[in-house]
Amino acid sequence: MSNRRPMIAGNWKMNGLRQDGQALAKTLAEKLPVGNTAGFDMLVCPPFPLLGHIEAALSGSAIMLGGQDCHMRDKGAFTGDTSPAMLKDAGCSHVILGHSERRHGHGESSELINAKATAAHTHGLVVVLCVGETEKERDEQRAQAVVEQQLMESIPASATAENTIIAYEPVWAIGTGRNASVEDISDMHAFIRKTIASRMDAAKARLLYGGSVKPSNARETLSLEDVDGVLVGGASLVAEDFWAIATASI
Ligand code: PEP
Repeated sequence: MSNRRPMIAGNWKMNGLRQDGQALAKTLAEKLPVGNTAGFDMLVCPPFPLLGHIEAALSGSAIMLGGQDCHMRDKGAFTGDTSPAMLKDAGCSHVILGHSERRHGHGESSELINAKATAAHTHGLVVVLCVGETEKERDEQRAQAVVEQQLMESIPASATAENTIIAYEPVWAIGTGRNASVEDISDMHAFIRKTIASRMDAAKARLLYGGSVKPSNARETLSLEDVDGVLVGGASLVAEDFWAIATASI
């Protein structure tokens, strides 16, 4: 049992309209009021257009707000992008960077993610930095090599254990219903903690697992020594499921 405080993070992706998001946020907000004595931290990352509405719905709550991505520049001619300063201004304390849906769906390189993370840190945002191998890379026994390279190239010089959370998300486990085995998660998290030691205080750093986490597998995953929380997609859209996952961390 470590003394790192669990972080339960929800990635809503491109889901929900205003009313859905507000209802979800309000239900969670009532369960976790300011002062948070629950023993875990909770973060929700809604789609950009909902940020202001969700910030309002979370008023009086300890739940933190995050963006799902950000640009590396402060402002300018970047159609469709959102700057770290805008996220901060919208009430965000965190930003997810390097999600596989950005790395693979938008061709984002680790170098770009590094630049985005630097910018996010400059604006005082905590970065939830995602890494993870594809199924092919795992089958070819390259999972650790791929994750090591992503970590070394994506973690910026500005990273500390306080401003950077690492999320291990095997691509083949995201949204597929296939949770990685406890052995795979355990081995990879221990490997990640060892690997990041050259970049931050690894003993203090929080490492999340993500990939088809649900109430039925959360406790087993969260009980692992090097797992300090979870990054949840699908199940974070259902208040009862997300809350059940969170309470499985204590
Ligand atoms: C994610 O998108 O980060 C994720 C882990 O999704 P899911 O929980 O739906 O697999």
